[in-house]
Amino acid sequence: MSETAAIGDLVRFVRDIYRRTDFIPLHEPTFGGNERRYVVETIDAGVVSSVGAFVGRFEEDMARYTGAPRAVAAVNGTAALQVALQLAGVGAGDLVITQPLTFIATCNAIAYCQAEPIFVDVDRGTLGLSPAALDEWLTDNALLDNDGFCRAKLDGRIIRACLPMHTFGHPADLDGIVEVCARWRLVLVEDAAESLGSLYKGKHTGTFGRLGTLSFNGNKIITTGGGGMILTDESLGARAKHLTTTAKRPHAYEYFHDEVGYNYRLPNLNAALGCAQLEKLDELVTAKRQLAERYAAFFDGSAYEFVTEPADCRSNYWLNAVICEDRDQRDALLQQTNAAGVMTRPIWTLMNHLPLYQAARRGPLPTSEWLESRVVNVPSTVPPELLA
Ligand SMILES: *Cc1c(COP(=O)(O)O)cnc(C)c1O
Repeated sequence: MSETAAIGDLVRFVRDIYRRTDFIPLHEPTFGGNERRYVVETIDAGVVSSVGAFVGRFEEDMARYTGAPRAVAAVNGTAALQVALQLAGVGAGDLVITQPLTFIATCNAIAYCQAEPIFVDVDRGTLGLSPAALDEWLTDNALLDNDGFCRAKLDGRIIRACLPMHTFGHPADLDGIVEVCARWRLVLVEDAAESLGSLYKGKHTGTFGRLGTLSFNGNKIITTGGGGMILTDESLGARAKHLTTTAKRPHAYEYFHDEVGYNYRLPNLNAALGCAQLEKLDELVTAKRQLAERYAAFFDGSAYEFVTEPADCRSNYWLNAVICEDRDQRDALLQQTNAAGVMTRPIWTLMNHLPLYQAARRGPLPTSEWLESRVVNVPSTVPPELLA
């Protein structure tokens, strides 16, 4: 079959799934539970902003859902990540190891802490940080000093944390990453913005590190309009709450702030939406996994390799993806699907290819480079017919 005919088949397949003849976006939110009821409740009660019960309820519901000891809401995922890194001890001049194959928010959060990223390659099977590449880079470029700090051999700067990201919802190799981080005394912070509902060996992503963060942006598996969450233990959770709410000491009426804090509180209005969305999350994950199965069957035996969950994992399949044979095939797929009104997108430009990070430290990045020129995301909204 010619490539053009194959892409025509894909366009028909996607139109058939969504039963739509108009433009089909990459990812739209799914509502249909208590969203309207809870949001109207905040308006009727006159508590849409910094007071109201939905923020606390959203945090408690999320802690229960993920199994994290404590969950702290924030105004967006990037802010959650910034505060998480700060609580991991990341400060001016520090280095943080992450993957180059990620959304810019990961690196923005590092930059907000006045720290710098080090890019280490991803694994082909997970699209997430490779523990082998991590260990190799550290062995060649780092040492543990007498105080137990991991330092760059080059200039002695402290490598404070490791920040893997669970790409498109597929869990990274967490056993390996946890082990290497422990050996090299790196604080593990997980960017789980894309992987809410995904399990690694039965445990939720975002709960393996000292801290993990989520995003509820409009394109994520559940949304609060805009929002984020920090998952951590009780003591760092209390610190996260304090920092994200202007560092005000609790008092009936006095304004006393004991450090520089942030106005990163999630408004009650958004938390109301989040509570309703979280009630539907398991149903959404089930439907997304069914959608992924359909794509897998469609792409089976084709020129495109459908990306599936790693072994021992349950992925939320937030964004479905295929790996093309080469860049030309990728370009043809992107061009023809978008021209036909079916939205597809390439994976992100690698962070080390952005002018901002051209001079950043890095290990060899062959797998990231290979994936950058081949991965395409296909429409992944939950089809209404797959919902219970
Ligand atoms: C969405 C996302 C974030 C956070 O984004 P916000 O829009 O700030 O909520 C962080 N990292 C990754 C990888 C993401 O996809």
